[in-house]
Amino acid sequence: MSEHCPVCQHHLIARGERFYCASCQRDFAAKAICPDCGQSLQILKACGAVDYFCPNGDGLISGRRVVFKPLSESL
Ligand SMILES: [Zn+2]
Ligand SMILES: [Zn+2]
Repeated sequence: MSEHCPVCQHHLIARGERFYCASCQRDFAAKAICPDCGQSLQILKACGAVDYFCPNGDGLISGRRVVFKPLSESL
């Protein structure tokens, strides 16, 4: 799976929950997406662990299954 920069379409480098564009030298926040329904996941942080919860009824999603997409606007 690869993502492309929303600004220049260059291939993005995944860095945990962020994406980096070597062409723009910009960092993009990543959005957690449910692999089952494609909707945004709620991120639950507890005791150093992160859980992802689908509000559409798919329940808790394992971090390994979560799909990360770059947000179109950079910060
Ligand atoms: Zn770029
Ligand atoms: Zn879902």
